[in-house]
Formats: sequence, C-alpha cells, structure tokens
Amino acid sequence: MAAATASSPATAAAANSDDEDNYEEYIPVAKRRAMEADRLRRLRLSKPAPPSSSAAEAASDLPPPPPPPPNQPSAGGGGGGLEASAKPSLLVKATQLKRAAPEVTHTEQLIMQEKEMIEHLSDRKTLMSVRELAKGITYSDPLKTGWKPPLRLRRMPRAKADELRRKWHILVDGDDVPPPARDFRDLRLPEPMLRKLREKGIVQPTPIQVQGLPVVLSGRDMIGIAFTGSGKTLVFVLPLIMVALQEEMMMPIVPGEGPFGMIICPSRELAKQTYDVIEQFLVPLKEAGYPEIRPLLCIGGVDMRAQLDVVKKGVHIVVATPGRLKDLLAKKKMNLDNCRYLTLDEADRLVDLGFEDDIREVFDHFKAQRQTLLFSATMPKKIQNFAKSALVKPVIVNVGRAGAANLDVIQEVEYVKEDARIIYLLECLQKTPPPVLVFCENKADVDYIHEYLLLKGVEAVAIHGGKDQEERENAIEFFKNGKKDVLVATDVASKGLDIPDIQHVITMICLLK
Ligand code: AMP
Repeated sequence: MAAATASSPATAAAANSDDEDNYEEYIPVAKRRAMEADRLRRLRLSKPAPPSSSAAEAASDLPPPPPPPPNQPSAGGGGGGLEASAKPSLLVKATQLKRAAPEVTHTEQLIMQEKEMIEHLSDRKTLMSVRELAKGITYSDPLKTGWKPPLRLRRMPRAKADELRRKWHILVDGDDVPPPARDFRDLRLPEPMLRKLREKGIVQPTPIQVQGLPVVLSGRDMIGIAFTGSGKTLVFVLPLIMVALQEEMMMPIVPGEGPFGMIICPSRELAKQTYDVIEQFLVPLKEAGYPEIRPLLCIGGVDMRAQLDVVKKGVHIVVATPGRLKDLLAKKKMNLDNCRYLTLDEADRLVDLGFEDDIREVFDHFKAQRQTLLFSATMPKKIQNFAKSALVKPVIVNVGRAGAANLDVIQEVEYVKEDARIIYLLECLQKTPPPVLVFCENKADVDYIHEYLLLKGVEAVAIHGGKDQEERENAIEFFKNGKKDVLVATDVASKGLDIPDIQHVITMICLLK
C-alpha cells in the first residue's frame, strides 16, 4: 500500500510535517466522555457549593483539578478544552500532576462509573422489544394456559418430586416448579399424539421431558439446558401443537392470520428437522378429525412465494431461521400480533453465529406477552442476559450431560502430521461401518475432503452454508436414509441434526490453512 503513493520522500516528509502541525490526536469515545465529565465537574467546582449539599461539600474537599498532561488526551482533548489556552510550563505541570494524584483516581472512578452504566445499558439491550422498553412494560406473571397436571401429580408431595428429580439427574430452579411427569399419559395429550409417540418407539420420557413438558404445558417460561440427543425437541414441539390446537378450537384462524407459536433455530437444517417432527404429529391429528393445523418452514434458500402462500391461508406454527423471518416481518408479509409462544432452540449457537440483533428485531414484532422458552447446551453470560430480560419467572431445567444420549460417546484424539491427515481419514473410514459424519472447520475443507473421498470411491455427500438449499436437503436426506455412507459438513450447517444409528463422528482440525 505504501508503494502506491506517488510523491517523493522529500515531498512526502514535507506533507507529513504539515499534517503533523494540523494533526489532532484521535481520542477514543470513552476517553472523550471521561474528559467531558471531568470538565463539567471542574465547572461545577468553580461555582460556590450550596451549603446543604453533602455531595457538593465532599467535592469541594478535593484538590483543584490538574491541567492536562501534554501527552494525555484525557485531560485536555485535542487542544479544544478550557485548559488548552492556559499553557502552563512543564515544571508547573509536573508539580500540579504530583499534587493531583487523588484527582486521577477520581477520573478513573468516573470512567468506571461510566463503564458500569454502559454495561447496564447493554444488559437492557437484550430481548425486550423496543415498544416494551419505551413504555416500560414488564410482565410479572406467567401466561395462563388451560392445562393443569392431573390431580395425582398436583398432589405429589414436594419431597417426592425432589426425589424423582434426583433419580433422573434433573436440576431445577425457579418458583412453583410444576411436578415432574414420568409418563406421557400424565400430560393429557390427545390420543393421536400419544399413538404417534409409541409408533416412534418413544415410550418413556427422557429427563428433560419428565420435567420440561409439565413446565411448558403449564405456560411457564423455561430455560432448558440440554444437548442434542436429550429429547429436547419434543419439549417445545408437543406443547406448541397443543397451543395451536387450543387457539384453533377457540377461534378458527382466518386468512393472513397467525402464527400462534414460533420456533427459531440457528440453521436451516435444524429448522427443517424440527418442522418435520411437527408434521409427523399433525398428520395423525388431522386424520383423527382434529382441526387442521398449518405449519410453515420459514428459511432462506427456498422460494419465498411458496412460504407466502401458506401465510396467506393463515399459519398456526412457524419454524424459522432468523434471517428469512426478519425479512418476512420487515416486509410486513407476516406479523406476530397473535404469537404467544416462542422457542429459541440452541440459543447459544444463535448467539455464537451473531443472530442476536436479528432476534432482537423479531422481538419488536410481538404485541403482547408470550411464553418464551430458551434451549441451550450451555449458559454463557450473554444467554443469561437474554433470559433476564425476555423471560418471566422462568423455570430452569438442567439435565446437562446426564440427560443427553451422548453419554455413550467415546472420544479419541489422534495427532496426525498435516500431510497425512486426509490419508488417515481414509484409513479411519475403512475401519468404521457407515454412517460416518465428518466435521470440518470451514467450507473449503468440506469441499476438499468431499472431492477427495469421491475420487477414492467413497459414497460421500457434503453440506455447508455455501451450497444451495436443495443440495443441502438432498445430501441430508441421502445420508439419513442410508443411500450415502459419509456426510462431510461444517458444524454450522449440521450441528443439532438427529441422524439415527450414527456410529462414528470425525472432527478434522486445521486441514487447509
Ligand atoms: P433431540 O434431542 O430432540 O434432538 O432428540 C433426539 C432423538 O431422540 C430423536 O430421534 C427423538 O426421536 C429421540 N427421542 C426423543 N424423545 C425420546 C424418548 N422419550 N425416548 C426415546 N427416544 C426419544
């Protein structure tokens, strides 16, 4: 870049010295604020303190403020402040600086106070909608649903409930936590849904379901700390279907109306998978004569017109990724006026992938209180902030690793020389029965490995964010139904996917630099 400047060294030097004469040192915003606070404080000090104010009295005890040190912009500010015109000698400045040691501490205090204020502000910038923030609306009571646990569960003594939770390795936190339910029949789900569960081989609830389902069905906000494989999807899907049925039965949906409930996922694949689970339950319900519930898969990479057709008819349930959802809402193609149920699935990944602002925008579209569920494998600070502002008296259900199927996973780490990695991968694949999932760090690695495996005759498919949606869907479909042996993928595209009978997952690190 430097070579691109055409001037000779001499002219450049002259120009530089001119620049230096006019140069005003850049002062970061935080420092400028501290300077401004300092300046105002000094102005205040220069006025006589009112006798009644103890704060002013305390301030008047302070030594006089120092003039700015020559190379510290925080005490003078680019020559534009009050002090710039005084121009004391260096000796005077040095003496003043020495005298003013506590003053610096005070300035630091101001900076710290300001930092705290900013942190507090960014806390507020969490998941409340602008309207709620502006009007100061906060909700203090959970939403009421028509659902109540059966009498047997309601009468369960607290000690018994605690004992059950201990047995199932369930940690709970929150006020009036609904009792755990060990049997799907205790959940008062419609018979076609129970039948579907049995057909899927799901006979006994997993720990997150034992506690999570009664919590969600009761209308409570919930933070579920659970991994993929713990059975968490059903914890938000089954109650959502119940919400949609209840709304539809009370007041049938009209064209353009809806949704009543929504699930936001970090990847299109996860959204599609969740949508499929919902559909599996809706079909038998409809066959059994329950009202039709219309779900919508709202993801990018597919034609928006098809999605809009569903919206026009009236949609009960939306499963979405943040980008397309935000788009539909901003274009006013869909609204959340009647939406009273929201799940953020894999919330930690939503934050990791930078969807925080998108989700905040989505929150602005809610018109009334909603039941909010937040599912996450971990609870980093940001997620806690989310939870603090967006959830009402949440119940925290933590099944951690204890409740996840991946307890059975054996992890092995192999250090392989860089050049030998791809050959070693082939060796691994030869030793392992399919299906095998290969995770890579980036798209380039995925393409490279995929191509290599195809050349070696391996039945491999690949997905990453750079491929079009149809390609991604086909790849997963082929892999899930056993037509392809190996799926090479970035974790962005494939985390959270439920792939039956997977035997081996290989994570490749640092392949292409
Ligand atoms: P999830 O953690 O929601 O991604 O679920 C992972 C897998 O667990 C899916 O294949 C579900 O069908 C299965 N599953 C969910 N609940 C149960 C259950 N109670 N018993 C057996 N399998 C289940």
